[in-house]
Formats: sequence, structure tokens, C-alpha cells
Amino acid sequence: MDSKPVEAKLKVHLWNSVPLRLGLSVLLITWAALGIAFLLFENKLEQQFREQYVHTASRESLIVVSSLSDRMVSGGGDNEWSEISAEAAEHRDAIDATNVRVFTRSGIVKAASDRAAIKTRIEVKNNPDCPSCDSTRPGDFPAVATLTASDGSRTLRIVNAIPLTQPCLECHRKSEGALGFVSIDYDLWPLERETARRRSDLLAIGMVAGMLVMAVTALLFRFLVMRSVHSIARSAHRLAAGNLAARAQVVGNNELALLALDFNHMAERLDAAHTESDLLYTLVLEASKTLEIGEMAASLARVLLQELHPRRATFFLETDARGWICASHTSAGEQETASGEDALEAVLVSGAGKLQPLLDNVPGQIIAAACRTQKLQLTSDAGGMNFVLPAVADRHLVGLLICVGIPPTTQLGEYLFEKLGMHLALVASNSRNYTSAITDGLTRFKNKRYGLIRLEEAVYTARRYKSCLGLVMCDIDHFKRVNDSYGHPAGDAVLKEVSRRIAMSVRQADVAVRYGGEEFMLILPETEVHQLAAIGEKIRQAVAVAPVDLGAISVALPLTISVGVAAFHADSDSGESLIARADAALYRAKEGGRDRVELDP
Ligand code: GH3
Ligand code: MG
Ligand code: MG
Repeated sequence: MDSKPVEAKLKVHLWNSVPLRLGLSVLLITWAALGIAFLLFENKLEQQFREQYVHTASRESLIVVSSLSDRMVSGGGDNEWSEISAEAAEHRDAIDATNVRVFTRSGIVKAASDRAAIKTRIEVKNNPDCPSCDSTRPGDFPAVATLTASDGSRTLRIVNAIPLTQPCLECHRKSEGALGFVSIDYDLWPLERETARRRSDLLAIGMVAGMLVMAVTALLFRFLVMRSVHSIARSAHRLAAGNLAARAQVVGNNELALLALDFNHMAERLDAAHTESDLLYTLVLEASKTLEIGEMAASLARVLLQELHPRRATFFLETDARGWICASHTSAGEQETASGEDALEAVLVSGAGKLQPLLDNVPGQIIAAACRTQKLQLTSDAGGMNFVLPAVADRHLVGLLICVGIPPTTQLGEYLFEKLGMHLALVASNSRNYTSAITDGLTRFKNKRYGLIRLEEAVYTARRYKSCLGLVMCDIDHFKRVNDSYGHPAGDAVLKEVSRRIAMSVRQADVAVRYGGEEFMLILPETEVHQLAAIGEKIRQAVAVAPVDLGAISVALPLTISVGVAAFHADSDSGESLIARADAALYRAKEGGRDRVELDP
């Protein structure tokens, strides 16, 4: 496939430049128009000259004819013809003609301004130097012809008939049509000279006008069109090179401004699509790193903060039918988590007030509307755009994403929310399923199978990084009596409360495991051996501090636990031996009278 790097920008050579080509085209059109105008004008000019000469010649020849008639009637003769020749010379000078001749129907020149021509004979039939005419057809006169000499000079010849008047008919017959002819020749050189002068004037004007029109057209085109085109082209290039924030400058409100607006709209869509794919890709990547629901909520909140730049991103997730967890990250770097033991939807609908710090002033009714309609809620205020997006699986709310204060520069496409909602629902369901697979339903501690995996990981880490590791085993004292005296539900309530008290007394990084019926294992990574006894004691006290209230049967039951603690020895211990040593310590505590801590350092 033929592909070019985006940086390879097309170089526009000067001769390819649109303003220049347009200017040249206009120049050619202007010159062509002037050429046509000139030709038309030249023809018109010649016609005008000809009409003017014909008019003058007709008038003059009539004068000659009338004078001639008078003289003929008075007798004629050589003297008369000589006087007519003199008059012809005067007429010639008066009308700027070159020759005036009077000749008979048979072509004998009787009088002429040029005396040398007198008595010569003109061939009147088929003479190319004579206009074709017939003396018996008055409509043929004045007859006009243009003659071209061998040296290229041109002559306009106008011939008029000398009509037969009443006195003439005494000697001539009417059928003769005319007594003879008067021909007047004009040199066409003045006309040609004038035409040549006008042609060169027109040419000069045409050249200058054409250049001016070309320059003005090129400048106007550059100003009106190329500025916008360049801006759009530059932005398109930046966009193609990966700068999705590139936008064209919108100049004026013409078609090019519309094009720039459309380009910007396209760039926004591209930007939004990119944000969308980037966000979804990063979410998929992050979601694939962990299935642990707390970590999942935190990493999704972090990704949303990175990609959409809100002031705060909060993600609520349902852990199971009666539990939820929430992670909230802010652009200022604050991170908060929260969890509870109620159904997620109930907490969000009725308890939104208590969650206000995490909701960053999103009104409770908007949260409730998102839960009830299971539809996206979009709002905006001075702080930016806010959205509340429910994650729904099988028409059940499994998560809720709240983003507050998204800057207007962040491009959010129409499909983003739809895809994001579907994705979050999938993530929430997977994470919930996974969490319930590794969690003990009663105590919310990790179950034994998962606990043992975490212990192997902790042992590996402690050995690999030469860090400390402690393990605590604890068992409720005389728990059987609780069951026996108050029944199993009371026993369950005790297990729940004792596990809650134990969870409160250890760190977030510690792993609490329900190891057996009323037996718990606590994995304490990064814990020094000298801290272990105190931690064991803290746990013991946390349980023994107050009687457990069995509310349902109005009994407050004093309870104790026995605690066995062991420190990991990298050189000799495995996970199994560490459990065995902690277990042995627990047995010692039981044997030692219960409600006490035994340490295997
Ligand atoms: P000791 O002080 O020696 O530990 O005495 P104990 O009675 O606590 O120990 P024992 O092992 O005799 O009894 C444990 C009892 O815990 C037996 C079992 O019925 C009860 N148990 C185990 N799992 C559960 C549970 O999930 N719920 C309830 N209610 N009881 C449980
Ligand atoms: Mg017990
Ligand atoms: Mg036991």
C-alpha cells in the first residue's frame, strides 16, 4: 500500500499557486475580450470611414455631374472639358481625394484631375479596378470598391452615374441610362494609419488593464479565500500529525467560514472519539489488572480523573446484595474510600445526605433520579460539567459513577456514556462475582482458600525482599456455648460482631481470613517481630472490651478470644509451617486459660 508520512506536506510551487493561476486566467480573459473588442472596433471604424467617403464622393460627384450637364448643354467642346478637369482638380483637393475622373459609358476619360489621364480609356467591363455596376440600373450607384495595389496600398473607388436630364435627351436616348460616369479615388492610408494608432493605444491599455485586473484579482482572492484555506489546511495538517486540539480560524461568515466551522466540528468529533477510545482502553487495561473490588473502584476513579480531568471522580460499587464500597479521587490528589453494609441503591437514594463529602455537592435528587431511571444524568454549572452514570446489569444497579467539574475543553462524544456505562456494568459484575467467590459471606473476611493464596504471596514477598511478616490465629473462647444457649442465629451475630471488632483493630494492608468456624487468621505483612505481641493484645482487647449485644434477644454477651502469634523465619518457614506455629501458640493460649495472647517469635 502506498502510504506517506503525515509530515510529508505537499509543496505548492509558485506556478501552481491558485491566486497566480486565477490572476493569469483573468489576464488572458481580459486580453481576449480586448482583442475581440478591438477587431469589432476596427471593422466598425473602416465602415464609418467608407460611409463618410461614399457620402462625400456622392455629393461631390453630383456637383461635378450638375456642372458637367450645364456645360454639355451649353455646347461642350475641349475647352469645356478642360475647365471640367480644372474643377475636378479643385474638388480633389477640397475633399482630400487622390483622383477625380469623368468618363463616358465606353470608358473614354474626358476630364480628370490628373490631366495625364485625359483621353485614356478605362475598361468598363470586367475590370477588377472598377466596381461592378450598370448605367441602366440607378440602384447600383454610387458603386464602391476597394482596390489593392501591388505595393499593398489600398484605394477606395466610388463611381457615380451622370444621369440624363431633359436637355440631354435632345441628343441622347433615354435607354442609354446615363451620359457617363464620375469616379473619385480615395487613398485609404489615413484610415489605416488611424487604425494602427488606435490598435497600439488599445494594446497598451489592454496590457496595463489586464495586469491591473490580474493583480487585483490575485490580491482579492488571497485576502478573501486563501487566508481561510491556509488556516484550514494548517489545522488539518496539525490534526493529522496528532494534535487533536487543532482548530481552524473562522474568518467572516461566508462559505469558507462554514467550511472552517465544519472542519472544527469534525476535529471535535475526532477529539471526542479519541478521548472515548483512550478512556475505554485505559479502563479495560486497569480493570484487567485486578478483580479485587476495592482496588477496582480506586483504579477506575483514578483513570477517570486522568482522562476526563474532573474535579472529583467517585465510583460506587455493589459488593453483594447487602454491601457497597466506594472510591473517590480528586484533582487535588485526595483519595477517599468508604464502604457500608446496605444495598447500594438504598444507600444512594435515601442516604445521599451522609455521602455528601464524596458527592461534591451533586444534589441528592439527581443521584436518586439516576438510580430510579437507571439513566445518565448530565448537568453543568460554573464549575464545569457533571454527570452521574449508573452501571446496570440485568436491570439491577451494580455501580454508580459520579464525575463533577469536568472542564468544557474535555470532549465527550455521544456514545461515550453509553459505552462507559456498559463497560462499568461489566467491570462491576465481574468484580462482584469475584469478590463473593473469595469472601466469606457472614464475616466479610477473605475465605480460607483465598487466604492461603494470599499467605503464599506474603511469604514469597517477605523472602524475596527480606521483609518481616507476622501471622495471627485467633479463636473465640467457648463459642459452642453461645450456639447451645442462644441458638445458631445468635452465634452468627456474635461471629459477625467479633470479626468486625478484629477488622477494626488491624491495618488496611493486613489480610483478615475466616480460617474455620470461629477461627480467624490475620496475615500481617511488613510487621516487625517486636510489634507482634502488642498487635495480638490489641486484637484480644478489641473483642473483650465490651459485651456483644445480641439485640434480637436483648442479651449482652461478654466474649473473649485466644490469640496465637508467630513471626516468619525466612530461612526455615513455609506458609504451612508458619500457620502450624501460630496454631500451636493459639493452643498454648487456650491451655493457658484462654483470653490471652501467646507469641512464637
Ligand atoms: P474453645 O474455647 O475451646 O474454642 O471452645 P469452643 O466451644 O469455642 O470450640 P469448639 O470447637 O468446641 O466449638 C466451635 C463451635 O463453633 C462449633 C460450631 O457449632 C460452631 N460454629 C462453627 N461455625 C459456625 C457458624 O458459622 N455459625 C455458628 N453459629 N456456629 C458455628
Ligand atoms: Mg472456640
Ligand atoms: Mg475452634
